Amino acid sequence: MLSVYVKYTKTMDNENITNIHEFDFNFICDFFLNTERQGPGSPEVTLKALSFIDNLTDNSHIADIGCGTGGQTMVLAQHAPGHITGIDFFPGFIDRFNRNAGKLNLQDRVKGVVGSMDNLPFREEELDLIWSEGAIYNIGFERGLNEWRKYLKTGGYIAVSEISWFTEQRPAEIHNFWMELYPEVDTIPNKVARIQKAGYIPVATFILPEICWTEHYYAPLATVREKFLAEYAGNKNAEEFVASSDHEEELYRRYKEFYGYVFYIAKKIV
Ligand code: SAH
Repeated sequence: MLSVYVKYTKTMDNENITNIHEFDFNFICDFFLNTERQGPGSPEVTLKALSFIDNLTDNSHIADIGCGTGGQTMVLAQHAPGHITGIDFFPGFIDRFNRNAGKLNLQDRVKGVVGSMDNLPFREEELDLIWSEGAIYNIGFERGLNEWRKYLKTGGYIAVSEISWFTEQRPAEIHNFWMELYPEVDTIPNKVARIQKAGYIPVATFILPEICWTEHYYAPLATVREKFLAEYAGNKNAEEFVASSDHEEELYRRYKEFYGYVFYIAKKIV
């Protein structure tokens, strides 16, 4: 979860998307377009989460919400039957997503669509599985769980990854940093209680290993950052964007004992 990303997309959620300066929008796309992932994760983690899901057939319909360029979607598609619709509100990400699906010859089963997670293009009880890695925070964990539930069939699953606290207490610096950006960051038991309250059975939770942040997320960003800075040389906003991203990474290295990403898998039973 890139904190600058939260800042910029938050603005987009709250205001009309057309009010956003063109450069903000382009920044995010440019910055992330050439990375395989736009949030912490790994193919191994996607497969581990998938291992808890037992209801899929060739006729299943899966949604990957906030799919980005589709790194995790393609892994899912290669290991799960059925059709997958990826939803993201950045057209640049969806273009890349559909190109990636084509390259892997998955275009008949995997389609990327531009759309918003607060207005999903599905019918009630249409989906067998809702997937969302590092993206539900955009709508909010609780709101996403509640609003997306109606699209799931009875017996359907939801699998989301979400930033969470590992301990009851933590140093003020890291607490304040994340709470300011995303006040729903909470401990794992509190998150699980929210899942139960939203009408699902919690099936599994597991913490994403550190390499999901360091090797799979921050390391590729280092190269991207250099290219990005060269491209936007002298642009204060671009420099600020990169500086915030560096700061988030530094905080992660310093405080990773206290927080991280957690995968939550749950089932709708009634
Ligand atoms: N799942 C991907 C991307 C995570 S980054 C991965 O793990 O790599 C979060 C994604 O959510 C971004 O691609 C962003 O464009 C998307 N997003 C943010 N707000 C959204 C909204 N309201 N509706 C749909 N997608 C949104």
